[in-house]
Amino acid sequence: MKKHIAIIGAGLGGLAAAMRLAYNGCRVSIYEKNSGAGGKMQEVVSPQGYRFDTGPTLLTMPFVFEHLFQDVGKRLADYLTLVPLEIPCRYHFSDGTVFNAYADFEKLTSEIETVFPSERKNFERYFQHIKKIYDITAESFIYNPLTLSRLMRVNPLDFFSIDAFPTAHETNSKFFGDSRFVQFLDRFPTYVGSSPYLAPATLNVIPFVELSFGGFYVQGGLYRVAEAYQKVCEELGVEFHFNSEVAEILIEEKKAAGLKLQDGQRISADAVISNDDAVHTYERLFGRNGKKIVSERKLKQLEASCSGFVLLLGVKREYASLNHHNIFFSPNYENEFREIFEQKIPPFEPTIYVSVSSKSDKRQSPAGTENWFVLVNAPYLTDAYDWTTGAKPYRDLVINRLTTLGFTDLEQHLEFEQILTPLDLKTKFNSNRGSIYGVTSNKKSSAFLRPQNRSPYLKRLYFASGSAHPGGGTPMVTLSGKFAAELVMQDLK
Ligand SMILES: Cc1cc2nc3c(=O)[nH]c(=O)nc-3n(C[C@H](O)[C@H](O)[C@H](O)COP(=O)(O)OP(=O)(O)OC[C@H]3O[C@@H](n4cnc5c(N)ncnc54)[C@H](O)[C@@H]3O)c2cc1C
Repeated sequence: MKKHIAIIGAGLGGLAAAMRLAYNGCRVSIYEKNSGAGGKMQEVVSPQGYRFDTGPTLLTMPFVFEHLFQDVGKRLADYLTLVPLEIPCRYHFSDGTVFNAYADFEKLTSEIETVFPSERKNFERYFQHIKKIYDITAESFIYNPLTLSRLMRVNPLDFFSIDAFPTAHETNSKFFGDSRFVQFLDRFPTYVGSSPYLAPATLNVIPFVELSFGGFYVQGGLYRVAEAYQKVCEELGVEFHFNSEVAEILIEEKKAAGLKLQDGQRISADAVISNDDAVHTYERLFGRNGKKIVSERKLKQLEASCSGFVLLLGVKREYASLNHHNIFFSPNYENEFREIFEQKIPPFEPTIYVSVSSKSDKRQSPAGTENWFVLVNAPYLTDAYDWTTGAKPYRDLVINRLTTLGFTDLEQHLEFEQILTPLDLKTKFNSNRGSIYGVTSNKKSSAFLRPQNRSPYLKRLYFASGSAHPGGGTPMVTLSGKFAAELVMQDLK
């Protein structure tokens, strides 16, 4: 008889795990609390015809997605069109400097030569440095599950080579004299919800990945990825149960043995994969057994990554200064991170990310208009800020800041608007404290503390999500799904 695997959640990690298991002969059932798949990857279409991705807007490491499809006997190109971006991101500094981070390496270095002439040589040295970090970490920390035996094989001297001791900002400041170029590189740790002033310099592997492998748009919007994952799952026979919130993971003979849904229904399974946030799973899905499984002290070590404040804006005009992806830096970056990570308040003078997919795909908004996805890093939820009363004032602050950044007539051209706060991420997706990327990478030990794909606390329980190894972001959660599926198959033979 086929082994039955029950998966909690239809986010990308859950779908990626489901595909592999179904392809390899398991019966797979996904239980999702919402009415559709995709998790944090969602879309909104306004009555006026503006289309927005409400989660991921930039795809990196395309080979991770291609391998997933290949591994289940499919071709990504039959489901999705990935569009390489000539300029994955345009950076606007507070002194007015504009820097285009071209995907093509020669164009990138020539842009550095033009905008930051003194940094060209330093960048060449830096790039070799971060390439080395990638070469060392790829095998142990990115492309394989983090198991004890793999950890034992890591050479302690490698911790120096992967720059595990200084912070990302310290290393970036050591290589470069121009504070704007440092700020450009300091941005990358935020892609996993962390602060460059706290996170280890090993995270400088992120600029290596983006600057080496490029940034991609998906024709029709990134939500097409979630749709494609769901379609492949359905073709492979995965059973979807939407509007089915899991209330408890059932335990028999000290093993995960099934699920209990909110409506009381019980489902038995040979293994359970949680695509739900790992902290939420351990805290909420074990009923009275919770505390016996993982201690509160251990859970406290899993501090949430930062969250985000999002505005979806339908703008009835076009702005020539904007690229598809743009960053508008704050004048005081250090203070911004102090506010987010120490004071736990949304920044007063935030760095603002503006993504306008209509720049690459005219069908994303009506003719002569733009669909703005505006994202500001925000702290995870605490008592320090109340989004129920604070969302509208913060929206006004962000719009005012965009006005001072040169979009003087923005407000009068808004014909659609929607606000998403950290509270939405918590209530819609059970994300721990509204975090975007699961667990923070702000500590030197983060990579080791991150929940493993195979639970060390309960047999037959596995994790496939941004809160588990290897971390957040669409390629990483896709890998997380791969690792969880492989471990299930290994354990169930
Ligand atoms: C605003 C924003 C911008 C982002 N930008 C990017 C980007 O540009 N590039 C990038 O690569 N990544 C980006 N990300 C991150 C990326 O979206 C996530 O890392 C990834 O989608 C998370 O996938 P996941 O599989 O971990 O699960 P999630 O997407 O968190 O899905 C988990 C699913 O489990 C369900 N669930 C939870 N608990 C239960 C339960 N008890 N019962 C049933 N179902 C349950 C939830 O409803 C959800 O559908 C962004 C995220 C956000 C929010």
